[in-house]
Amino acid sequence: MALKTLHDKGSRTLAIHAGEDPDPTTGASSPSLVMSSTYVVDEEISFSANNLSAETPFVYTRWDNPTTRKLEQKLAVLERAEACAAFASGMAASTAVLLAHLRAGDHLVISNTNYPGTAEVARDTLPRFGIDVSPVDSSDLDCIRAAMRDSTRLVWVETPSNPLLRITDLRGAAEIAHAGGALLAVDSTFASPLATRPLELGADLVVHSLTKYIGGHGDAMGGAVCGSQALLGPLRGEGLVHFGGVISPFNAWLILRGMATLPLRMRCHEQNALALALFLENHAGVELVRYPGLESHPQHALARAQMDNFSGMICFRTPDPKAVAQRMMRELEIIHYAVSLGHHRSLVYLMQTDDLIGSSYRLDGAELDKYRSVAGDGVFRLSVGLEDSIDLIRDLERVLG
Ligand SMILES: *Cc1c(COP(=O)(O)O)cnc(C)c1O
Repeated sequence: MALKTLHDKGSRTLAIHAGEDPDPTTGASSPSLVMSSTYVVDEEISFSANNLSAETPFVYTRWDNPTTRKLEQKLAVLERAEACAAFASGMAASTAVLLAHLRAGDHLVISNTNYPGTAEVARDTLPRFGIDVSPVDSSDLDCIRAAMRDSTRLVWVETPSNPLLRITDLRGAAEIAHAGGALLAVDSTFASPLATRPLELGADLVVHSLTKYIGGHGDAMGGAVCGSQALLGPLRGEGLVHFGGVISPFNAWLILRGMATLPLRMRCHEQNALALALFLENHAGVELVRYPGLESHPQHALARAQMDNFSGMICFRTPDPKAVAQRMMRELEIIHYAVSLGHHRSLVYLMQTDDLIGSSYRLDGAELDKYRSVAGDGVFRLSVGLEDSIDLIRDLERVLG
């Protein structure tokens, strides 16, 4: 009863059925959770990750697991990818890409504002292994072009990017990367496969934190990389088997369950976010709002062209952000003052400029001025959840005065 063809099915059908079949021994309609760490085999199988292939049977869960494989197959279908590898977290997925595809002497070009964990690995960890790194504003293709060197092997962009929701033109970035003999990797966590499918636009690898929209319920950490079988081979051998960044099958099962409603959730995230973005834009106590779905977003046209869904992430600025943050912590009734994003529950957090610049982005000169011209002393990152938008608006209205 497996889906016979995929190309003629809509995303809601695929999100529910792709990668899943009724259990052949029990007939169970929903996917089973297989927690076993080892498997009884009936042939000799090599112990080395170097001999791992797509045909290798289940041997040990750090290599592959039946529940995790269902999650990988479903996500591969949604991303239009040949293959997918799941990891313990978005950071495990990101470091697997960076460490498996870069070596000493190579050069990396990376968005200069992005997820702080990735920013710090790029600035602190990779140079320790002899990898040169150029952080650039990837929302300006000229900045990517100018940073390319003969030794550039990877261009890494995040779009929309944390926290200012800058958009990178993926078709343009792919052309520049490929002309220079480099791969393009895209952290598409803020977009989800419902909004953007980077592989269709020329990217080579797509990275997700499954902890966010894809799992969607704030109760399971995971990460994933999608791309060709050839590019994922080294990620599995090193990132999973050697570095050990394997996802718990229980988390894979929870995330698999969450993915079934991803298309419905993304539609509601977008609707709610647009309502809140318009409310914030018209509020006297708000100085600036960035949401890709707003016409006032400086890259709205690109967002329209590249995103089928504007997702649920908003950033906004108020005067005296620390005082507003204090009021939020004490007075919000529905929205949680907490980090993370993409959950069914709305979350808000103040991203303080000095903290982000000092610890993660380390911008200076014109790039720092550009960042501050939008962010001021800090922006509130609002992950709009699935609650009734009127309740969210009333919650914000109370703390914004
Ligand atoms: C959260 C996040 C990550 C890291 O994912 P974890 O699952 O928390 O390790 C990476 N990139 C982006 C854009 C994120 O939002």
